[in-house]
Amino acid sequence: MSRPRGYHSATAPQVRRPVAWRIRPDEIARFTAEGHHCETRSCREPVAIVTWRWFRSHWVGRVLIAEHFTCEEHGQAFAQRHHIAVEPAPTEGDAR
Ligand SMILES: [Zn+2]
Repeated sequence: MSRPRGYHSATAPQVRRPVAWRIRPDEIARFTAEGHHCETRSCREPVAIVTWRWFRSHWVGRVLIAEHFTCEEHGQAFAQRHHIAVEPAPTEGDAR
């Protein structure tokens, strides 16, 4: 399974269900080494989960993807809020 790669300004053809997936241990180590941490306000836990949420922007007139890096706890909270499960880390074939 391949995913489109994108960031905050990425666009998509249509709004989809939100997704959340676990990043690989080597990515956790890299993000932490680069000084990243959970993006939830006032949370300083290491990044463990990536969340994507699609939304239609009337400002730009197209669908955008909001990408966020969260810790385990806040990633799980996102998944629960959207009634989805946190998916396992992508395997080989998703290399950038
Ligand atoms: Zn957090």
